[in-house]
Amino acid sequence: MARILVAGGSLGGLFVANMLLRDGHDVRVIEKVKGSMNGRGAGIVSHDALVNALERLDLDVQSTLGVLVPGRVLLDGSGNALQKLDMPQVLTSWSRLYQILLEAFPAERYLQGVAVQRVEQDEREVRVSASRDNSELTFEADLLIACDGIRSSIRQQVFPNTQPHYAGYIAWRGVCEESLLSDFTLNSLFDYFGFCVPADEQIIGYPVAGPNNDTRRGQRAYNFVWYRPMPQGDELRNILTDADGNHYTQGIPPHKVSWRQIAKAREDARNLLSPQFAEILEKTAQPFLQPIYDLASDQVVSGRIAIMGDAAFVARPHIGMGVTKAAEDATAISDSIRLYGASSQAMAAYSEKRLRAGRSAIQRARWLGDYIKSADSSSKSIVHRQHLMVNETAIDLGRYSHLSTFKENEHFTLNGIADPKN
Ligand SMILES: Cc1cc2nc3c(=O)[nH]c(=O)nc-3n(C[C@H](O)[C@H](O)[C@H](O)COP(=O)(O)OP(=O)(O)OC[C@H]3O[C@@H](n4cnc5c(N)ncnc54)[C@H](O)[C@@H]3O)c2cc1C
Repeated sequence: MARILVAGGSLGGLFVANMLLRDGHDVRVIEKVKGSMNGRGAGIVSHDALVNALERLDLDVQSTLGVLVPGRVLLDGSGNALQKLDMPQVLTSWSRLYQILLEAFPAERYLQGVAVQRVEQDEREVRVSASRDNSELTFEADLLIACDGIRSSIRQQVFPNTQPHYAGYIAWRGVCEESLLSDFTLNSLFDYFGFCVPADEQIIGYPVAGPNNDTRRGQRAYNFVWYRPMPQGDELRNILTDADGNHYTQGIPPHKVSWRQIAKAREDARNLLSPQFAEILEKTAQPFLQPIYDLASDQVVSGRIAIMGDAAFVARPHIGMGVTKAAEDATAISDSIRLYGASSQAMAAYSEKRLRAGRSAIQRARWLGDYIKSADSSSKSIVHRQHLMVNETAIDLGRYSHLSTFKENEHFTLNGIADPKN
């Protein structure tokens, strides 16, 4: 039995903590947020690999995971269906997954309000200094697993050169209650994974459970993500500034988004998007926004420290893999520890498996996202891009890889760092 400390108690942290605890290890999670994190997330696309990771924890939640859509629909600017595709998929939500994973983990091992400050290690153990309110705490462990997100303070200490990379566009996001929508939108869009692709932009949406994870008709909600190009500069600065003039470089909290920016986005939605999506924007109580980044690591292990989930790799959201990738990282770490114990061999085996997967996810997501910045606005190019989006966005590669036209580039470099295997 090894002492394993998991830093970050979101979905990635809870996946790995639950797996390692079931394998008999002494696991604790430290999470900097105090109090409930529930209700903070939005929609999540599920893949078979995510369900497999839940099943590994003996959590049979398939029937209550989320909302099943029969397929996809592409709408034009007038709201007509340009393309339909049969592609059943279950859409879940951050809150639902968080609830499932948190309930499965012993509360006394999940320590909230504890923020990692510094890490040190030697050949015997790893030591973590953390703060809780105004006091300092120290944790000793055989292994530290960093699941502390894209701005990971642990990664910044061990691999300071690995930094998030702005993609050149933002996403407006939100969740609109089903009961507010017109029959037109309910009948032509609501039950589908929907797309509308005006030149250089893209909105996608899908139904998710409503409050209290209610999946009954009339009680659900529609989750949307609207990608809009925005180069670094004044426009980006303005949109990340609240109505009182405070600027948030790394992303503006949902409730701080300026009402002027929301009004402007709704006006643009009326002019650019299908009426169904414009209505959804109009009736979403609090649309929020997020600049899109990706993050590519060239190392995920340093001695007794393993980095996983968003702390290690963040692919742009087009592949819908953030949570599934974290679940796969968790599975790979747990498998490696089962095989080799809490040892350097286990760390090496994890790194070997997941570096390649992380690189591949980043590459595929950049390929899908790059069309947003494409300068080619010919109708041929637009039609090609529309079909690409519908056929390849957030597909479950375990089931539909035969539909994908993506080809991995062997000479791909991450943030200018050459892949050491090439
Ligand atoms: C509240 C919340 C809502 C989200 N909603 C969505 C969503 O709607 N759709 C979607 O696709 N993805 C969402 N995500 C991202 C999604 O959860 C991740 O892509 C996925 O779970 C893998 O990320 P992760 O668990 O590795 O990191 P994250 O989910 O980013 O979690 C990192 C965790 O580490 C904690 N942390 C950070 N620094 C420290 C520190 N110094 N000490 C201790 N703890 C620390 C953070 O508070 C956070 O809980 C959300 C994340 C969060 C935290």
